[in-house]
Amino acid sequence: MLSLKKQTRSLTFKIVVGMILGFLFGVILNLIGPDEVMRTYLIDGALYGAGQIFIASLMVLVVPLVFVSLVCGTAALDDITKLGRIGGKTLGLYLVTTAIAVTVAIGFGVTVRPGDGFQLQTAVEFEAPEAPPFVETIVNLFPRNPIAAMAEGNMLQIIVFALLFGLALTYAGQAGKRVLAGFQDLNEVIMKLVLLLMQLAPYGVFALLARVFADQGFEAIAPLAWYFFTVLFVLIFHAMVIYPSFLKLLSGLSPVTFWRRFKEVPVFAFSTASSNATLPVTLEVVEEKLGVDNSIASFTVPLGATINMDGTAIMQGVATAFIAQAYGVDIGVAGYVMVVVTATLASIGTAGVPGVGLIMLAMVLSQVGLPVEGIGLILGVDRLLDMVRTAVNVTGDATVSCIVAKSENQFDEKKFNSSQPLSLEPSEKM
Ligand code: ASP
Repeated sequence: MLSLKKQTRSLTFKIVVGMILGFLFGVILNLIGPDEVMRTYLIDGALYGAGQIFIASLMVLVVPLVFVSLVCGTAALDDITKLGRIGGKTLGLYLVTTAIAVTVAIGFGVTVRPGDGFQLQTAVEFEAPEAPPFVETIVNLFPRNPIAAMAEGNMLQIIVFALLFGLALTYAGQAGKRVLAGFQDLNEVIMKLVLLLMQLAPYGVFALLARVFADQGFEAIAPLAWYFFTVLFVLIFHAMVIYPSFLKLLSGLSPVTFWRRFKEVPVFAFSTASSNATLPVTLEVVEEKLGVDNSIASFTVPLGATINMDGTAIMQGVATAFIAQAYGVDIGVAGYVMVVVTATLASIGTAGVPGVGLIMLAMVLSQVGLPVEGIGLILGVDRLLDMVRTAVNVTGDATVSCIVAKSENQFDEKKFNSSQPLSLEPSEKM
């Protein structure tokens, strides 16, 4: 059978080329100022269609992948108490890193003061959503109908069901073993499907970026330059300083190697602006290139894609400071402490899809009595920041996965240190 290994080897390179070309093509379209025909057939036609097909090809894998992989992962835990320990560590790290992220963001927000002297009349109308009551959030973790949870893509419910199912497998003797063997085979097949569909990435990334930049232009950034660059700086700082420090201090792993092995995942996150759509790639890379065992990754990665949003929290921290300054309101230290708490909790409730972070910002603002319409001020640059913060969100998921796996001795350092790319070779069984 034909080996596809060679093609896979250059995939990262092709994706980067697709990204650069998409960016340039979009900027050129924007500068030309597309006419009606170009807009209908090219930007909202071909580019939109190709981008959406690419996103669909990733999203289609999310539910089966999370379910099958997590069932296998849970069943592989020989000791049930491990589950609680892994869950505790993972949640703890996700919360701590998010709280640090938003604290640093507020620190920069109140020092740089991007909102001072901002012209308020540029605000766009923004309607605030209602936050669901806390008890509803907890009740909603528990699925009534697993098929409905899967059909809706309700990640937390799928996680809960998969954990229970995986646990039951370990108690079900021979029957459990037989079912598990089937799940393990299915997991292999789905992982191969991830690799197959990743081949579409260079074209998908091209289409997504070309359309964003054809619409976006850079003129929206000028009045918001201070806000935009402050958020961008803190995002980069978090990804390049905070995460690497955590990784080095808590697991001893080399951040340089981490980035060398992980680099294509942020590219997927950047172009799709969705942690959920990136999830299949994150899981594949975290297991196959970083060396995190499936028993850890299958739990930490989907959970992270759903509740761990450090990049989003960073945007919310700076945005709160910006809006307070623009409206000339001082929310004081107590107000900012409240922002740290609510932004950390809000990031848990933020779905890993484009633009939700901005909607959750409404919750943070209303907690500290700031005008929710303030969101209208930053709307213009949010799409670009969404792309970058999603890349940070998925980096956090992978960093925590490595730390937890290392602490549980479920980490393959040989894989982490090897230079092997992801391989799409047909398995020997075929
Ligand atoms: N787009 C982000 C993500 O998927 C969420 C957000 O900040 O809007 O991770």
